Amino acid sequence: MFELPEFVTLAGQINATLTGKTIHQGSLGNSPHKFVWYNRRDTEFAALTQGKTVGTAHTRGKWLFIPLDPGYILVFGECGGRILYHPAGAKLPEKYHLWLVFTDGASLTAMTQMWGAMELYESGRELERQYIKDMRPTPTEPEFTYGYFSALIDSLLLGEKRSVKGLLTQEQLIPGLGNAISQDILFRAGLHPRRPLGDLSEEQRRRLYDAIESTVREVIAGGGRNDEYDLFNHPGGYVRLMDSKTAGGPCPVCGTLIEKFQYLGGACYICSRCQPAVTDS
Ligand SMILES: [Zn+2]
Repeated sequence: MFELPEFVTLAGQINATLTGKTIHQGSLGNSPHKFVWYNRRDTEFAALTQGKTVGTAHTRGKWLFIPLDPGYILVFGECGGRILYHPAGAKLPEKYHLWLVFTDGASLTAMTQMWGAMELYESGRELERQYIKDMRPTPTEPEFTYGYFSALIDSLLLGEKRSVKGLLTQEQLIPGLGNAISQDILFRAGLHPRRPLGDLSEEQRRRLYDAIESTVREVIAGGGRNDEYDLFNHPGGYVRLMDSKTAGGPCPVCGTLIEKFQYLGGACYICSRCQPAVTDS
């Protein structure tokens, strides 16, 4: 699944490649998929996109916004799979869930892997959509300060018990993070995924905040994770420290073997020495 850094990478590449292009024809693809969330019928999508020009794309959390000027905005969200650019004359993938052909012959296809939104809104109406409407500050935004982050933890302590993995992956409390990037964030912060939020010292909160910021920055700098693909169908350059490929091998810091277990709807990969389950004071 794409997380914030992959969407930032795609937005940058779209702006370098597609911005200014005019749509000759748009279609919702050739492969029906139950879990693609559309808000338009194919004929409506075709009529509304024809003749529109691609504006400057941007991203928030796990959402990618591509203005189709005048008046509309194409929204991809909560998805994985491929969003690909094809120069004029290039062979298209066999299956896709959305297709834009530009007047110069180039095109864009999108195919989701599991589920995801591919929606077209009148500009501004996308802000009323569930999950976009009340989105909290994301780690790439100036509002995501340590003060904000610490206050978010304080507010969560008033509700049901939560672990640090829950903070990173549930309910988009920190929009844009997902299970994949969270493994490296928790490793860098020296925190076990099950560690209760209420356990964290001031110093651990600070370490977690710093790990979120530095990991997100690093994955963006690498052009996304290497298990996801960019607009040109190239894998990203960021290699995760903690994932299925390093499980069973030595921790890069202390050499302890990396463990895998399932927790909160996804696999966790940890070093039990660097990320102890209980406070080591
Ligand atoms: Zn270790």
